[in-house]
Amino acid sequence: MSALSGYRDAENVRRIAAQIAQVELPRPVRFMEVCGGHTAAIYRFALHDLLPDAVRLVSGPGCPVCVTANDFVDRAVALAQLPDVTIATFGDLIRVPGSSRSLAEARARGADVRVFYSSADALEFAKTHPERRVIFLAIGFETTACTLAATLAAAVQSGTRNFSMLCALKTMPEALRTLFSAPGVQIDGLILPGHVTTVTGMAEFDFVPREFRIPCAVSGFEPVDLMETILMLCRQIEQKRAAVENQYTRVVRQDGNPHAQALIAKMFEPCDMPWRGFGDIPQSGLAIRKEFAAWDAAAIPVEVEPAREHPGCRCGEVLRGMIRPKDCALFGKACTPEQPRGACMVSSEGACAAVYHFAAEER
Ligand code: SF4
Repeated sequence: MSALSGYRDAENVRRIAAQIAQVELPRPVRFMEVCGGHTAAIYRFALHDLLPDAVRLVSGPGCPVCVTANDFVDRAVALAQLPDVTIATFGDLIRVPGSSRSLAEARARGADVRVFYSSADALEFAKTHPERRVIFLAIGFETTACTLAATLAAAVQSGTRNFSMLCALKTMPEALRTLFSAPGVQIDGLILPGHVTTVTGMAEFDFVPREFRIPCAVSGFEPVDLMETILMLCRQIEQKRAAVENQYTRVVRQDGNPHAQALIAKMFEPCDMPWRGFGDIPQSGLAIRKEFAAWDAAAIPVEVEPAREHPGCRCGEVLRGMIRPKDCALFGKACTPEQPRGACMVSSEGACAAVYHFAAEER
């Protein structure tokens, strides 16, 4: 029996579902999960089907591949055309459609685009291939930022000058503030990202109940975790409370991981950042600190085409929780995981891909 089997126990899940059904909600509610890992787990374990009609789940901007804006992909494609350049990337990003083409299509036309499992592997490649300029595409949230900070620090320490990062790292708080400040947004509870909160700590999200009166709960990634989190949110609403609670106590601490926070702050600094579906959000990104500019690929001059979205793609509305994937006319027809028209159909953490793979009745 694995350590996680209790968190997947069907009897436990059904028991919590019965408790959720007994909560006296004053109105139908919509809870948003803001972690792509949660989105994938919710659809994989069909948790929607276990909830009463009064409790709806919607996906938010928590898939790092999905929220990476087209102009970042376009810049990476343009850099890939330069002589001696190797683009190093995580697997999913390579298939995200840019304005004209994806990195996979650039590779098919001769560009050197390679997939690495970690930024440390890409750094090792750079050390053993001094004739190449290796540019690592740095996307992700706080959780990824700490591992990338460690790689960047190792590149600086070892003086590996043929390694750099093109950085589109994002932080979650300002994106949530932008989302909840928009008119017409109706979210009654927030399933907070367990991995991000492991790094940041819980206080980062105190502003959500304080400024917007929206209950929050940090969640683990197994079905029992998510059902317990939904129960916690329902009970906050029943009791007319709004606070940040912690379901994921086996991992998440109140003050997060100070060592990881210090490493991120040493290598990166806050910056304005474009998000797919949101536009530019002030202070929602991480840029490489100026003292490490020699490792910042943003300084490499390159001509980038004007960014444009695929006609009909509604990823932006999916990422803001405004529509469900099946509401996009392209879903499952012109847009499939094999032929994605938008980023949300690419990553396993994207809402469109999750619905396509696991929620057949929603197609
Ligand atoms: S179905 Fe495809 S085109 Fe439509 S929103 Fe999802 S990813 Fe974008």
